[in-house]
Amino acid sequence: MDKNNNKKIAFVTGGSRGIGKAIVEKLGKENYLVGFNYVNSEKKANTFINELKANGIEAFCKKFDVSDYNQTAEAIEQIQEEYGNIDILVNNAGITKDKLFSRMKEADFDNVINTNLKGVFNCTKQVTNKMMRQKFGRIINLSSIAGIIGNIGQASYSASKAGVIGFTRTLAAELGGHGITVNAIAPGFIKTDMTDVLSETVKENILNLIPLKDIGQPDDIANMVAYLAGDSGRYITGQVISIDGGLSAI
Ligand code: NAP
Repeated sequence: MDKNNNKKIAFVTGGSRGIGKAIVEKLGKENYLVGFNYVNSEKKANTFINELKANGIEAFCKKFDVSDYNQTAEAIEQIQEEYGNIDILVNNAGITKDKLFSRMKEADFDNVINTNLKGVFNCTKQVTNKMMRQKFGRIINLSSIAGIIGNIGQASYSASKAGVIGFTRTLAAELGGHGITVNAIAPGFIKTDMTDVLSETVKENILNLIPLKDIGQPDDIANMVAYLAGDSGRYITGQVISIDGGLSAI
């Protein structure tokens, strides 16, 4: 915290688009020094940084692939040297490679697990020792309703997101005594590039199943992240918070 006028540092993986972008914006407005990474969207990331700065938000971004342990370790070490310890880590980066299991290729399964689950390990591993030393930390992992109830065509994705839940609960138990909270958010259907690729028929079918009869917005998730990251989240750990318009309640 010392290198940044006592601002807490929040780092969001996959902040160039969608939910991650909304989280970066929200935490920036709440006066954290915010950083994010991306793997492909260099132009979008730089435009976003310029927008944040124009709005008086201190922000930085870095390109690295969360599924690559060494790349992640090196990048996060550089961030810590330049800006100080990461106080809030939001493991948001994620991908889908949806296919019915009978057609699912091993490489696609590995890719999803390595990004969505191993990526959470890779990033978390770089921050927990420092969080333990400073006796403060917040780790917020993006799971999914698919990790709780499963979803046709998403065996790899559901497995990765169920893994994130097990990881979250275990770390909450291990790290609670060190002033670190660890929680997961399980979004339902949120309007981003990830869901825009679905056909109109699929979208309509999902909409019909949602009790609130509305598609979620990235801000619906960002607001919960801010709640968990702040003093408001002080006594919440090991939880999986569904934000899905009631989809998991039926
Ligand atoms: P999105 O719009 O597809 O954005 C994904 C983000 O993750 C991008 O910033 C992307 O970077 C980054 N990313 C992907 N692979 C990466 C890698 N290997 N290393 C670093 N960054 C990587 O996704 P979203 O809908 O916002 O989803 C965000 C999170 O919420 C994901 O974990 C997703 O599984 C979860 N979620 C989403 C929904 C939903 O309905 N949208 C529902 C449940 C859970 P680039 O821009 O560089 O590609």
